[in-house]
Amino acid sequence: MHKRRAPRSHCFAAGLAILCFTTGLGGCDDAPAPELAIINANILTVDPANPRAQALAVRDGQFVEVGSNDEIRSHIGSATKVVDVEGRTVVPGFNDAHLHALLLPPRAVDLSDAEHRDEIIRRLAAHAREVEPGGWVLGYGYDDTVIGGHLDRIALDRVGTDQPVFVFHGSLHLYAVNSLALSAAGITAETKDPHGGKFERDANGTPTGLLTERPAMEMLFVDGQPSFMPGDLSTAVAGLSDFIRKAHRVGITSYTDALVPADLAFAYWWLDLESEGMRVNLLLDGKDMKSVDRLMRARNALAWFGLNPVDTSWLRAGGVKRFHGHSLSGRTARLFEAYSDRPGYFGEEPQVAQAELDREIAKIHELGLQAAVHANGDYEIDMVLAAIERAVASAPRDHRHRLEHASVMNGALLEKARDLGVVIAPHSYIYEKGPMIEAYGEARWPRMFANASILEYGIPNAANSDFPVSGLSPWLRIQSLVTRTSRAGKTYGAEQRITVDQALHAYTMGGAYASFEEDVKGSITSGKYADFVVLSDDPHDVEPNRLSEVAVLATYVGGKLRYE
Ligand SMILES: [Zn+2]
Repeated sequence: MHKRRAPRSHCFAAGLAILCFTTGLGGCDDAPAPELAIINANILTVDPANPRAQALAVRDGQFVEVGSNDEIRSHIGSATKVVDVEGRTVVPGFNDAHLHALLLPPRAVDLSDAEHRDEIIRRLAAHAREVEPGGWVLGYGYDDTVIGGHLDRIALDRVGTDQPVFVFHGSLHLYAVNSLALSAAGITAETKDPHGGKFERDANGTPTGLLTERPAMEMLFVDGQPSFMPGDLSTAVAGLSDFIRKAHRVGITSYTDALVPADLAFAYWWLDLESEGMRVNLLLDGKDMKSVDRLMRARNALAWFGLNPVDTSWLRAGGVKRFHGHSLSGRTARLFEAYSDRPGYFGEEPQVAQAELDREIAKIHELGLQAAVHANGDYEIDMVLAAIERAVASAPRDHRHRLEHASVMNGALLEKARDLGVVIAPHSYIYEKGPMIEAYGEARWPRMFANASILEYGIPNAANSDFPVSGLSPWLRIQSLVTRTSRAGKTYGAEQRITVDQALHAYTMGGAYASFEEDVKGSITSGKYADFVVLSDDPHDVEPNRLSEVAVLATYVGGKLRYE
């Protein structure tokens, strides 16, 4: 079943055979012995041509053989490091097709697992003591459905009143700040809401400290740029390096950073991803197409000299992220039918009209780049697909334009996405955010995060965490995809559950396809990069509601051990 190198005829010549035998090099093959062999494994290859194997061999950072213990043993040489994993399960390294590593301020406190409001205040207060006087106290990822409502200035004033406090809601579309952050920016009851954003207010019209959407958040800063975001490369690089360690611990070997300002893309270049051991695909921020243009021109110029920094096996930058429409967990996504708990409320109007969206997508398509468009509500998705259809009609190619999230679907939209060759990167966060989708109504749940339908229609499905929107661990995500059951034990839209194998495929081959890399990664196949993970259990033997407990024991990237 496995792909095997054709035996070289001269290997059978007597003299050479003796040499092979006496030195034990490479098992009678003129190629050097593998550097690494993994034996006694239960390998789930995610390669339909060879779905299971016992052992694998790695040379020059690639799989060179995947097969039985005997086959691999015959290739082991004196220089081969042999790792006996004693029957443990091995899968391809995970590819998280949409997360945010660069978007988060360095030093910010991760609040995504906090279950109580007091715990959030405590963690932020502890962090405040380490921040320089007057500096921003920052957090991200709080979940209002878990802590019983949103944070506001009254809560955050408990962290401190002499330092500005800023917390990203888990959706990244809502923000909570303390009184000082508001007063320093001169925001009062008289301040008008900006277009596309909102300050939540109490009965007197006084801002509560909860802000909706970016235009409101930008009003906190003199030039609209959050002053705590990494402006300099070294801070950004240090933050990314920490993030990569964290990703290795959960078995991630490739990821797509889903919103990278073109000017900061250089942080990834500086980082030297090969030495960090992470393969990264960038979706550049389409809000600043001038910088994207500049970066692409620099890339083309460097490529002419044979020095292409962003088209390597470690770093790619061929996609542009656009936002169209709003947030699902923030309940601002635009829908065709009203929210079930708010009659007459369809969500916020999308940022731009169809003609403008058409122009934006056409521009990305013309540049030969991949458009990755954030859209959650069916109304928003419909507009995006119409724009893609128009852009592609005049210049068809293997574009793989992406719908990010595509949370509320219907049959017509799925059909259109399939016909257009669009890739979908859906949410997988019912475990954490089940209560949030109550607002969408039971009738709509079977059309939300339509993972099973996406696969039925044959649409490429690129699994992801959208970290920090939901937790980074792929096994928690897979549990959520397989069970669609919340932390509290409620199942939402059971018809959209998928199998462990389907979820594993979406978390490996799915991301590889989305970045045009299905020939070099995503499965344990001879010739692909040797990115793989050793697990504590075979996920097929684990009760679906406990899949998140499958532990990553070791992570290898390009055949190098990166975490154990
Ligand atoms: Zn995102």
